Amino acid sequence: MTPVLRCENLRKSFRGNLVLDDLSLDVAEHEVVALIGASGSGKSTLLRCVNLLEQIDDGLIHLDGEHITDPRVDPDRVRRKIGIVFQAYNLFPHMTVLDNITLAPTRVHRRVRAEAREQAMSWLARVGLADKAGEYPDRLSGGQQQRVAIVRALVNSPRLLLLDEVTSALDPELVGEVLTMIRELKGEGMTMVLATHEMGFARQVADRIVFLDGGRVLEQGPPEEVFGAPRQPRTQQFLRRIV
Ligand code: ADP
Ligand code: MG
Repeated sequence: MTPVLRCENLRKSFRGNLVLDDLSLDVAEHEVVALIGASGSGKSTLLRCVNLLEQIDDGLIHLDGEHITDPRVDPDRVRRKIGIVFQAYNLFPHMTVLDNITLAPTRVHRRVRAEAREQAMSWLARVGLADKAGEYPDRLSGGQQQRVAIVRALVNSPRLLLLDEVTSALDPELVGEVLTMIRELKGEGMTMVLATHEMGFARQVADRIVFLDGGRVLEQGPPEEVFGAPRQPRTQQFLRRIV
């Protein structure tokens, strides 16, 4: 079966600093992959390259078998099929929750506004935030804001959801509600790649753990293998430090 995402031999440097070093990674449909690794190992850069927010220097990225790093490809069209959520400050402060969510569908999709709002409301209801539709972001908790940001990434019905440390900026008591939402999305079959420091969560939700070290995939496997019996000394060292 064609993987949803195929990254082949990616290379990316910032001013001579090699950040992705011959990195290859496939993600199958409905698979949840957790990227772990020290700060600076390339997790965010990989996600940004997949969403075409950064340009790779070498290699190929395929989405559903389409070569999306072909220079002739329209990046906006590709981004509609990929949802991405960052660590924090995702929402526009001067817009209501509902407007934040429908901005993309109405502008980019040129879909009927009513239809976009209907879909947004149905998503908000599913995550228990229907009563917040008319609120401004600063009236919501950090956890609620982040759930709204995830809803916004979902309204285009993406093929792939990229989550970059989406709980890192949250107070500890708010992390759970966001993780619960991600777990529910997994239950619905959403294909996801998430960069995370939450090893306990990665262990629970991910089908595969990918350990990045210096922009390379140093080790990968099912959570019980990578966490339970890491093979590489650097993985062992990283997990000893973080757990
Ligand atoms: P991680 O998400 O694993 O912490 P990043 O992908 O953010 O790692 O960063 C990997 C390396 O790339 C770091 O050394 C970082 O400083 C560098 N880097 C990331 N983005 C840029 C950029 N826009 N310009 C210059 N260097 C960058
Ligand atoms: Mg990062």
